[in-house]
Formats: sequence, C-alpha cells, structure tokens
Amino acid sequence: MAKQIKVSLIGNPNTGKTSVFNLLTGLNQQVGNYPGITVEKKEGVCKLSRGVKAHILDLPGTYSLNASSLDENVVIELLLNKKDKDFPDVAIVVSDVENLKRNLLLFTQIKDLEIPAILVINMADRMSRKGISIDIPLLEKKLHTKIALVSARKKEGIEDLKKLIESYTLLPKTSNTNALSFAPDYFDRLQKAFPDQSLYKLWLVITQDVNFRKFNKQDISIAPDFKIKSESELKRLQQKETIKRYQFINGALKEALTVDERAATGMRAKLDRVLTHKVWGYFIFFAILLLIFQAIYDWSSYPMDLIDEAFAWLSEFTSSILPAGPLVDLITEGIIPGLGGIVIFIPQIAFLFLFISILEESGYMSRVVFLMDRVMRKFGLSGKSVVPLVSGTACAIPAVMATRNIENWKERLITILVVPFTTCSARLPVYLIIISLVIPDEKIGWIFGYQSLTLMFLYFLGFGTAVGSAWILNKILKIKSKSYFVIEMPGYKIPLFKNVAINVIEKTKAFVFGAGKIILAISIILWVLASFGPNENFNNAEKIVTERYTDLAEEELSNKIASHKLEYSFIGYAGKAIEPIVAPLGYDWKIGIGIISSFAAREVFVGTLATIYSVGSDEEETIKNRMAAEVNQKTGEPLFNLASGLSLLLFYAFAMQCMSTLAIVKRETNTWKWPMAQLVFMSVLAYGIALIVYQILK
Ligand code: GDP
Ligand code: MG
Repeated sequence: MAKQIKVSLIGNPNTGKTSVFNLLTGLNQQVGNYPGITVEKKEGVCKLSRGVKAHILDLPGTYSLNASSLDENVVIELLLNKKDKDFPDVAIVVSDVENLKRNLLLFTQIKDLEIPAILVINMADRMSRKGISIDIPLLEKKLHTKIALVSARKKEGIEDLKKLIESYTLLPKTSNTNALSFAPDYFDRLQKAFPDQSLYKLWLVITQDVNFRKFNKQDISIAPDFKIKSESELKRLQQKETIKRYQFINGALKEALTVDERAATGMRAKLDRVLTHKVWGYFIFFAILLLIFQAIYDWSSYPMDLIDEAFAWLSEFTSSILPAGPLVDLITEGIIPGLGGIVIFIPQIAFLFLFISILEESGYMSRVVFLMDRVMRKFGLSGKSVVPLVSGTACAIPAVMATRNIENWKERLITILVVPFTTCSARLPVYLIIISLVIPDEKIGWIFGYQSLTLMFLYFLGFGTAVGSAWILNKILKIKSKSYFVIEMPGYKIPLFKNVAINVIEKTKAFVFGAGKIILAISIILWVLASFGPNENFNNAEKIVTERYTDLAEEELSNKIASHKLEYSFIGYAGKAIEPIVAPLGYDWKIGIGIISSFAAREVFVGTLATIYSVGSDEEETIKNRMAAEVNQKTGEPLFNLASGLSLLLFYAFAMQCMSTLAIVKRETNTWKWPMAQLVFMSVLAYGIALIVYQILK
C-alpha cells in the first residue's frame, strides 16, 4: 500500500472541524474510541487523485497551544511528538470566517512549530450576510500559507482543499510571526543549548504542564548555559508572546479582510437577550427540557414495544426450530433476552442524543452553559457541568466523558463524582415496574397522575442529590486548581442533519458496545447460575416436586418445578446468603438475587426477576402480575407494597450499581481512589436511606 499523507484537523471549538472531516472522509469514518464514551480522536481516509490517500485525524477543539484542558493536551502532545504515529505531515487549521482573528492565534503557533499548515476558512456561506470579504491571495502571502475558502454546510471548497493536501510538500514551512523576538538574548541561549530542537517547541515545553514523555522541562533545566525563569516571569513572557502574535495577525488582516458593519444584523443579539435572560432564560430552558423528556417517553414507547415483541418472538421461533437441549436453552433463555435487554434502550438513548445534539448544533447549548454558570458555581460546579448532568439522564458513561471540556480540574472531578446520581436510563425500567406495582394509578386533577409524579420526583431527587453532593464535595475537597472560564458563543445555526445523525449513531453505538457487552455477559452468567445448582435438591427437582404435590395440573406443576429449581440453584443460594442483610429493607431472597445480579448493571434487575418468576411461558402472566402476586413469607403481606417498593426505588436511586461507570471514572481520573470512594459512599447512602424509609413506613 502506498504511503498515506497524514493530516490533522486542528482548530478552535465550533469552527466546523468535524463537518470538514465528514466531507473529506465521506461516511467511511472509522471511530477510534473507547467503549461507551464519546469520541476523542476520529480517524478517516480521504481519497485524493491518482490513488493517493490521506489519513485524516479530527482532533478536539483547542484555543491555543497553551493547554488549559485535557482536550487541549491531546493536541499538544501530538504536535510536539514527531515520533507519534499520527504526527501530521500537514496540519489543516480550520477557522471560522466570523472569528478569524481569534482563530489565527492557533494558526501562528502551529506555523512556529514548523509543521506545514493549510488554513481553511470555513463558513464561507455566512460571508455575504455578514458583509465580510477577504483578499485570499494577499492573506496567503501575509500568512505564508495556502488557504482554502470552504463552506462545509454548502459542501463548497472541499475539492480545492483536497488539491492543497495533495501538494502539501510545496507549502512553506517558514513563519514570519517573530513571536519570540521580545527577549532575544534569552531565546538565543535557549536555542544554543538545544540546537537541534525547534525554538518554539522548546518554549512550549518550558511553559506547559504537559507530559511530553521523552523530552521535558527536566531535560531543559539541566542544560549548562541556560536557566529557566521563574513561573511568574514565564507568565509575563507568554503574555508578551500573545501580544506579538495579535500584532502580527492584525497586520495581516488589516488589508486582507474587510467587514461591512451594517450587514451584521441584530438578530443574534436580540435572541441572546431573551435566551440568557435572568428569568426568561431559565424558564425557556426548563420548558425545553420538559418537552424533551415528554417526547422521549411518548416517542420511544412505540419502538420499545416493537423491540420487546420482536425478541419474544425470536426466542420462541428459535426454540421451535432447534432441537431441545442445554445449548438451545442458553440461546433462547440467556442470549436472546440478554440482547433484547440492550436493544430496548436504543430508542431512548437515540432520542435523547438527538435532542442534545440539536441543541448543541443550533448554538443554544452555549447559552445554557453561560446561563447556568451563575447557578452551578454556587455548588462548586461549572456551567459546563450542565451538559454532563443532562446527558447523565441517558447514561453516566458518555456523561463522565463529556466532562472533558471542563478546564478546572476540581470542577471536573466534582462533576464526575456526582454524575452517577442523575437518573440514567438504566434505572428507568426498574422505576417503571416498581412504580406500577406500588403507586396507585390515579390522577390528581386532570393531568398529573401519582405514578408520573413519583417518576418525576425520582428524577429531581437524582439531580438534587447530585447538586447537593457537589456542594459538600466543594467544601471538603482540598484541591487547588486554576479557574478558567472560556465560553464559546457561536452564532445561531440551523443544525446540520448529517452532524446530528452521526452524533446520535456514535452515542448509540457507544452504549451498545460499551454497556451492552457487559449486560449481555451478565445475562449469560446469570442464566448459567440460575440453570445449575450445587446439589441433589436442584438436580432432582422434578422428582421432589412431583412427589410433594401429587394433585397439581401439569401447568402449575412445571411452574413449581421451575421455582424450586431456582431456589436451589447457585444464584438462589447467593440470594439467601444476603437475605439477612436486605431483610431490614423489606426485601426477600428473590429481590436479593435481583440486587446481586444488577450490581453490574441496574437494568438487569427486571430481567432477573422475570427469570426468577419464570414468566414468559404463557401470555397472560406478565412479570408485573407475577410480582404483584408475590407474598413476603415472613410477614404474609404482599412482597411489593408501598414500604418495600419505596425502599427499593430509593435504593436504586442512590446505589452505585454500574460497573461500566466505575471503569470509566477510573479511566478519567487515572486512579482507583475516586471510583472506590463513589462505590462505598453511594452504597452506604443507598442502604441507609432504604432502611430508614422501610422502617418508618412498614
Ligand atoms: P467542530 O467543533 O470544530 O468540530 O465543529 P462542527 O463541525 O461540530 O461544527 C460546529 C457548528 O458549525 C455546527 O453547528 C455546524 O453545523 C456548523 N457549521 C459547520 N460548517 C459550517 C459552514 O460551512 N457554514 C455554516 N453556516 N455552518 C457550519
Ligand atoms: Mg468536533
């Protein structure tokens, strides 16, 4: 295979990198991500002419090479490491025509690293409306580069860009910024100490707190003829550097760019005034949230019912065409229902992310971040914590990943720690079934029912606990970290369908392949544990039950056998072993089994109960009816009553029952300390509250 040209897409957030990426690579992008999370680096291939190909990397948005968030570190570490397999042959710096000046700061820094760079000026479609015109040849000359004027929205300029990529070797590598000309002696000595490194790279290494592996600040500090200046001195020099850069940029843009001010309309300002208004802003935001949640429930119920039926049918069909035996049982009772338990969540997750990406794409989310920052800051969170907390209602895994753009480490850590309290979609099936069992199906007035109010209460409880814990954590965590608040206020835009669609597909895939794998594995393990037992009580179940109940109809008999088998299966013994621990909460050993099996993933609870009560054998007997009929053998009352039901709801609201979340928190915080703290704290809290509620209400 011929060598591919390695290309990195770099630029400020929201300049359209991903849109350009999608156009260059078509849909055959290969998503280089970690299971269950949003993507950090996307890769794809772009076909150029004559069989030449370019390998394109879409990097997270970054404002400059002076890192302040993790996302930015990714970019800097790549650009400073020539040995990295992704180190670009050519960098494409994507800029937004409306914010050219600010975007060019990053461009001049990349030029100073002596990486060949192409400048993409994107959103060209907005130029006429904003009265912007650019003298491209002049600007190319001033910036020592080649420019592609692109509209990713209108799909214009992409062919030009491809040609520039193809002839990247012709790009000038020089820069004329002279950004480091303000302290000539100092920088001369630095260059002399390390003659074979680029000066700007040395400077970045000195001023950043990034781990550059092979070559770092330590190496520079031991150079004989060079001394690193003090921290505050360095800061001062960095400011001078930035001023130099802007002087250079202003000079370049002065003649090349003209803006006719009259063309810029006041529409955006008017919208901003309403959407970030002290009262109306919040009102509108909550109204939108309410609408979204309503839509999610209403719309997903149809596909969810279909999926449910389809998998039930598939199970039945499979068992009817294959000869009976343990392997077929594994398929029809373990694997197919396990897969069904994953697929059933897809509609909700897809709808949620559909709405979130529309809000992000339209530019509205940035206003929410701005608006909520005032409130969130009181609790030690950042305005940017709103997105993780809202996405947490789908799944904590993408939510924890979404904290990556919070620059301040303390705020980020707190957000990560409290996100699992928000009501994720995995809690929903548990909530729904228990609510339908223990909360009366009656209405107050003519809209609100007790059941839906309970559900709403549980959502507020989750959110409230998250915010409350954040407040406490903010007080007790002694972490110093620099506070930045850079907030992007992009213009309003009609969302690009393709971007939205890709985002929805990616998030759904992340769920299916991240959490889904675990759910499937657990379903299979559970089936095995429930289908085998350690002693004769299990193996001879048929004989024992038949002898004990001589006058039962065949149907009832086989149910009795199934539940007898379960009681003496491995999982039955495990459930009984923990019964003394969960009895004070109002649960019996069967719920114990449910709790054990749902430790790894909450939604497994309902499936487990379905297995325990061996439902599905006949049509009438739904899981709900079976649960309603269940009697607590100690008290003689229905097992699921108001006291035990509420206790169980609250247990699930607080408990950290999700292995995938623990794994992702470990990955994001780089230590087991925080996930373990979460696990212990949330479990103790859940147990304590469930205990109190049951003991009071019983
Ligand atoms: P990224 O954050 O740099 O990856 O930017 P995205 O590709 O996610 O795009 C940011 C926003 O700009 C999205 O709302 C896009 O729909 C929008 N956008 C991208 N390219 C264009 C363009 O050429 N014209 C206009 N008007 N909007 C664009
Ligand atoms: Mg992007």
